[in-house]
Amino acid sequence: MEKELKKIWLSSPHMSGMEFEYVKEAFETNWIAPVGPHINRFEEKISNWAQNQSVAALSSGTAAIHLGLILAGVGPGDVVICQSLTFSASANPIKYLGANPVFVDSEMDTLNMCPVELEKAIIAALEGTLKNENGEKIKAQLPKTIIPVHLYGMPAKMGEISSIAANYGIPILEDAAEAIGSTLDKKPCGTFGKFGVFSFNGNKIITTSGGGALVSSDAQLIQRARFLSTQAREDAVHYEHKAVGYNYRLSNVSAAIGIGQMEVLSDRVNQRRANYDLYRKELSSIPGISFIKEPSGYFSNRWLTTIMVDPIRTNGVSREDLRLGLEKFAIESRPIWKPMHLQPIFESAPFFGKDRISDRIFEIGLCLPSGSNLSEEDLQFVIEKIKNLLYK
Ligand SMILES: *Cc1c(COP(=O)(O)O)cnc(C)c1O
Repeated sequence: MEKELKKIWLSSPHMSGMEFEYVKEAFETNWIAPVGPHINRFEEKISNWAQNQSVAALSSGTAAIHLGLILAGVGPGDVVICQSLTFSASANPIKYLGANPVFVDSEMDTLNMCPVELEKAIIAALEGTLKNENGEKIKAQLPKTIIPVHLYGMPAKMGEISSIAANYGIPILEDAAEAIGSTLDKKPCGTFGKFGVFSFNGNKIITTSGGGALVSSDAQLIQRARFLSTQAREDAVHYEHKAVGYNYRLSNVSAAIGIGQMEVLSDRVNQRRANYDLYRKELSSIPGISFIKEPSGYFSNRWLTTIMVDPIRTNGVSREDLRLGLEKFAIESRPIWKPMHLQPIFESAPFFGKDRISDRIFEIGLCLPSGSNLSEEDLQFVIEKIKNLLYK
């Protein structure tokens, strides 16, 4: 009988040990609801990381994007510009609000929003040449929000993106769901825009089992986010409502996990960066394999290490050959996100990207096992299998 192989995951939760103590504390004090002292402490820890911006701890990153867009005033018929190469949760909240998503291609340095294509999208929206998904003309308007994403922890070109946004007076909502721990010129991702979003989903660099946060330098907006996330209850014993509310607050038990995780964030970042360094050292000399390097001033948390697999230079081995080959050894790897403009739900939305860089990245990009809890042995096993598949 074949020996059963140990599964090597793409990215699995990595507890420090303290989380359980904090969860016990929550139980012992009976703070089990979406209210309690651990939520406040968790928000404080995130705020300490995010240059003292205000923080609302929420039930997911998706909820944080939804509330951020509501607070930016996004409504039916509005235009919101979003990076195309991302997870669908960056874009779905645009649809929740009846607004029109307009997708923008990536550039090859960081895999994130291309500033040149961004400006083209803004101009088209202003000139009224965009059509919605039903082929109807979208009325000429200034886009309400721009959503750049820091994919796999690599900061987007926020210098250029911010100056374009400022020229036109458009607020930015930064999807930093994958990028807590990353910085650009020492400034934390999530603090560049009017709003920043983090995710603490189970597969992210740190996790609360499920959760997210909305951050902003505007304390009043964050106060409003907390209010909307707890069913928009006015201050009255009989439950008075003047606004439509949401049930989006993080539970105190999840926040207890989050406190333990925030305490080890920098260790987790260091470990993921070490994974990247090892992969790069061992694999970068293979013809057809390339890595996304940090431009000067960029610091990525390296949530996932991604490689580009160019079959013209690998003797015909494609990204998919590599993925399937690794799967045979119980190694989980994954294609890079499929761009939104190629997704059935969004393919008739406007897209700006004359060189279709993100199509190419999707075709050749592969995410390697990147957990901070992978052993040296696990990593060497993955590396050996990749080498075997490429030098067959
Ligand atoms: C994970 C993720 C989200 C959504 O976060 P959830 O907490 O899972 O709702 C949004 N955007 C990106 C880029 C993500 O990776």
